[in-house]
Amino acid sequence: LVSRKWRVHPTVLDLGDGIHLGEGSLSIVAGPCSIENEGQMEAVMQHLVRSGVRLMRGGVFKPRSSPYSFRGLGLAGLRDFYRLARQHGLRIVTEVMQVSQVEEMYDYVDVFQVGARNTQNFNLLDALGGVDKPVLLKRGVSGTIEELLHSAEYIFSGGNEDIILCERGIRTFETASRNTLDLNAVPILKEKTHLPVFVDPSHGIGLREHVAPLALAGIMAGADGILYETAPVPERAASDGQQTLDFDESARLVEAMRRTYALR
Ligand code: PEP
Ligand code: MN
Repeated sequence: LVSRKWRVHPTVLDLGDGIHLGEGSLSIVAGPCSIENEGQMEAVMQHLVRSGVRLMRGGVFKPRSSPYSFRGLGLAGLRDFYRLARQHGLRIVTEVMQVSQVEEMYDYVDVFQVGARNTQNFNLLDALGGVDKPVLLKRGVSGTIEELLHSAEYIFSGGNEDIILCERGIRTFETASRNTLDLNAVPILKEKTHLPVFVDPSHGIGLREHVAPLALAGIMAGADGILYETAPVPERAASDGQQTLDFDESARLVEAMRRTYALR
């Protein structure tokens, strides 16, 4: 069902308010790794509005490698995130980690994110197949392109056709970067499926100073959108600060991405 053989026209998601995701426009999703407090959200939102970015990312349920790391503000944080975002005219993308959260989060989410550790959580995918809100599905940490497409198939076959595929780097033998961003996936996915394809260069390389060039490379490879991390003071972020852009870097990247997209 997610194949181009089945549907030739690219799927474009309509989030309302003139916000469309998919072929024909460049989508930019930016924000902190974790939602931390109102001050942080307010600062990021003002930055995004100034930059003309309409979609904000930020996790309230965080999948952390260590159970002792900050694991997110949970549902209370999500309610604040959603309310503040609405006040700024922004749409939000946030991670759902388990089936029971789908219903709890539903009223406060614009796009459900499935993280790289849950790409093959088939119960979660089934549950998301039954909702009428878009799903941004990340590629698994060690997942093949084929497996990503099968995961999308779970959601699509359940009745939810609003899916975005996101390349976010895979685990390889290489240790110089956090993950290896597999840009090969972009043209291959664009060829195989009608769904929008995004790239997440932040998790893809994990090194702040190299996020921008990979974002631009992702666009030239054919991505329909870029998702990246930005926060007021990356050095003090509760998670992923080492790959998070400050607002100056983020504003420059937004400009560069728009110029790059126009060249394509
Ligand atoms: C994130 O977007 O902050 C995140 C946890 O991503 P991933 O699932 O790709 O690691
Ligand atoms: Mn992160």
